[in-house]
Amino acid sequence: MGKLGAAIGEFFNPHIPEEIRDEFLLLSASQLQVQSRLLFLALLLTTPTAALAASQGASFWVRVVTPAAMALFCLLGFLNLNRDLRLSVSPRRAARFLMESTVASSLIAVMCSAWCVHSWLGAPASERIYYPIIIALGAFSTAYCVASARIAAILNLSINLVPMTVLLTTSGSRMDFAVAISLMVAALFQLHMIVKQQGNVVNLLCLQRRARELALSDPLTGLLNRRALLDNALALGREEPLRLLVIDIDHFKAINDGHGHDVGDQVLCEVAERLAIRAEIMGSVARIGGEEFAILGTAAELPEALALAILIDLRTAAMPHGQPLTVSIGIAEGSVGSEDDWRDLFQRADMALYEAKQSGRNRAVHFEASPLPAAKPDRTAAA
Ligand code: GH3
Ligand code: MG
Ligand code: MG
Repeated sequence: MGKLGAAIGEFFNPHIPEEIRDEFLLLSASQLQVQSRLLFLALLLTTPTAALAASQGASFWVRVVTPAAMALFCLLGFLNLNRDLRLSVSPRRAARFLMESTVASSLIAVMCSAWCVHSWLGAPASERIYYPIIIALGAFSTAYCVASARIAAILNLSINLVPMTVLLTTSGSRMDFAVAISLMVAALFQLHMIVKQQGNVVNLLCLQRRARELALSDPLTGLLNRRALLDNALALGREEPLRLLVIDIDHFKAINDGHGHDVGDQVLCEVAERLAIRAEIMGSVARIGGEEFAILGTAAELPEALALAILIDLRTAAMPHGQPLTVSIGIAEGSVGSEDDWRDLFQRADMALYEAKQSGRNRAVHFEASPLPAAKPDRTAAA
């Protein structure tokens, strides 16, 4: 019973992994907007036939008012969905749209179902069978269009098909009964397809997210990679000046040569972890090359004194190869409005790093702004 309850709960309200929940909402809402626009248009075109197909004895309400109300509803819906609802930018707006669409499509289903039931009841026996066909076509195409809002699809199929199925199974006709069974099987099959399709979308979104993470992170240390650092620089650097610290391990090759590549890797991971602990709240920490790291943040949030703290942190840390480790750091600042600006900033930090290496390692050098490429770093801070 517990398992059945869980399965039913999962059917109506499927689990969407937290990390893709927003993307799933945005995608579902955007798809629903496009599909529903077509649906409204199609329904609008079929409303004249509703007046035509009303049974002879049907009341004025059924013959004229219901189709007219439907036509108006569809026209307004179509016009509304033709606007830019900006569903792809706000998950909250997307969730509200999905909810409103579920209510609107259920209302349409109620109107269509009431019209069909009423027409069936008033029609001569020879004409009755057309109404299950009409409602079935409407129900299946609507459910397909609103498939990205699962509850809307379930409600549509139920509201449209259950009353008609009850009429068919209780009419006493053998053929009506057969039609009812076919309708139910087709509805269950469509629900199954909708659930499967949503499962596929969720899997694809998870894969897409994983691929994006892999493309932007360094597999050994889990830090950001060079590409991600560039993205962050472009996102941050238009507003405020940035500060970049380029950190290179001193004599790293000797660690590899003396202790093996695996120990070298462990040292890289240890350095990465210590840099992340020290600097992640102030900026982006990345591994940008073999034994080269970078920290990027706004000049206001990433103090220059961080370089000194890192020198001390790493020099005093216990390292996997059992010996002290030192690094050299180059520091530069600048605005980053384009990739060229980024290259420029990077080049200045790199020149400062070069100067730190040249002047004895185990120190931080700040690059003072002066024309490239003749610029000479002019301030050193040995720890
Ligand atoms: P310097 O003080 O001038 O920076 O000297 P260095 O030895 O640190 O620099 P060098 O450029 O001579 O050597 C860097 C070494 O880093 C060479 C390369 O084999 C090693 N390396 C690059 N990537 C990795 C990696 O992913 N894992 C390990 N274990 N070693 C790596
Ligand atoms: Mg090095
Ligand atoms: Mg290097």
